Amino acid sequence: MRDCSRRCVYCGISLDYDRATLDHVHPLAKGGTHSPGNVVSACPPCNRLKADMLPAEFFLRHPWAGSNFILYARAVHRALKRQARRAVSLAFAEVRAA
Ligand SMILES: [Zn+2]
Repeated sequence: MRDCSRRCVYCGISLDYDRATLDHVHPLAKGGTHSPGNVVSACPPCNRLKADMLPAEFFLRHPWAGSNFILYARAVHRALKRQARRAVSLAFAEVRAA
């Protein structure tokens, strides 16, 4: 929680302890681990939205979430941040090309 500045790392909303949920950036269902570098705080709507999507898939579909993630998820694995940056720039490149 502290590592994420008490925010949802996907939409940036401030979270109270009773509203925050834990999200596994790389879903457990898809081989993610329960390690601090893979766990972030998220609001319930974002957690539902992301569900079992892989981070690259989620950020490609919702680049706003990726931008916030890069800003707020300070303690996640660097590989996850790299994936987020790549997905966000890809998503924005597609918007420009359209
Ligand atoms: Zn959120």
